[in-house]
Amino acid sequence: MSDKPIQLCSPNISGNEWQYVKECLDTGWVSSVGSYVDKFEAMMAERCGTEFAVATTNGTSALHISLLLSGVQPGDEILTSALTFIAPANAIRYAGAFPVFVDADADYWQFDVEKATQFLRTQCERKNGELRNKATGRIVRAILPIDALGHPSPIKPILELAAEYGLVVIQDSTEGLGARYEDAPVGGLAPIACFSFNGNKILTTGGGGMITTNNKNFAMRAKHLTTQAKCAGEEYIHDEIGYNYRLTNVQAAIGCAQMEQLDKFVAAKRYAAKRYTDFLSVFSGVQPMKEASNAFSTFWMFTALFDETQTKRSSREIMKLLAKDGIQSRPLWQPLHLSPAHKNNPTAGSCEVSERLYKRGLSLP
Ligand SMILES: *Cc1c(COP(=O)(O)O)cnc(C)c1O
Repeated sequence: MSDKPIQLCSPNISGNEWQYVKECLDTGWVSSVGSYVDKFEAMMAERCGTEFAVATTNGTSALHISLLLSGVQPGDEILTSALTFIAPANAIRYAGAFPVFVDADADYWQFDVEKATQFLRTQCERKNGELRNKATGRIVRAILPIDALGHPSPIKPILELAAEYGLVVIQDSTEGLGARYEDAPVGGLAPIACFSFNGNKILTTGGGGMITTNNKNFAMRAKHLTTQAKCAGEEYIHDEIGYNYRLTNVQAAIGCAQMEQLDKFVAAKRYAAKRYTDFLSVFSGVQPMKEASNAFSTFWMFTALFDETQTKRSSREIMKLLAKDGIQSRPLWQPLHLSPAHKNNPTAGSCEVSERLYKRGLSLP
């Protein structure tokens, strides 16, 4: 038993965070307006190669607003990853829409474009200019892929598929901040992308989120909706139902300091991933996560599969053994089509890969 437990992940606060936060406190600019909010948005936009970035209270609210921007109506369906943290599916429900869960691909564990294609070709029909799921009768409106575990989604084929069927694409790049697809940074690849800066993400603001886009209307509407839809001017006039989803200047100050260190954080994750991969690859029945040749992954949370038939111990038994030695590890997310919260929603074919990854996967510190 080691004296100090090894945590799965802990925030790295070693840059200018104190200095920038102190400046907020000293000047009184602590709330949702301030230079650090503008600066953090500008840094994110630059990083993602987008013209605009709009800060939000967290990643879930960024997703909620993004769905509203993309014209999602109550009762619509959104294709999204089955294997992910629950936030995207919840945000879809907040917008009154329903998720259609798409399996992960067996190689890189990302949104399976082939299964999505198959679903759109065989399970949906176009009628009066609308694309409907034949089984539910609902309109299919958008695709929301997640950059699972920091590996970029196969965004090019996703965008092609979306164009063919007239769907909007929102990329949840939370875990992929700093990742690249065909040498282009995530965040600027889809019409809208979302990020979270929760404590366990690549970088953190305590809690926070961001929407990145090149679409000026989206950006302006995102600002509007996140500030209670208040119209410009001195009068308190609100032209629709808005939300209080703004990030505070104090959080943004932390975000600016964290952004200065992003490359360092990603390099450290990639270094750890390489060490784990080299070490684990010699064991039969252990499959470390991989990186596609056209991808640059952040390896946000390094994960390996343990095939019980060969390793003799299940991933959960290994988790308990590691815990005894003070090493924290954790299972992958329960695939959302199995989640009590979402199990009544449709899937695009089988989600057997997600189920296998869930059973065998273990994320390591
Ligand atoms: C953490 C996470 C979120 C949610 O972000 P919050 O800031 O906690 O609301 C959304 N999507 C993905 C993929 C995440 O990992």
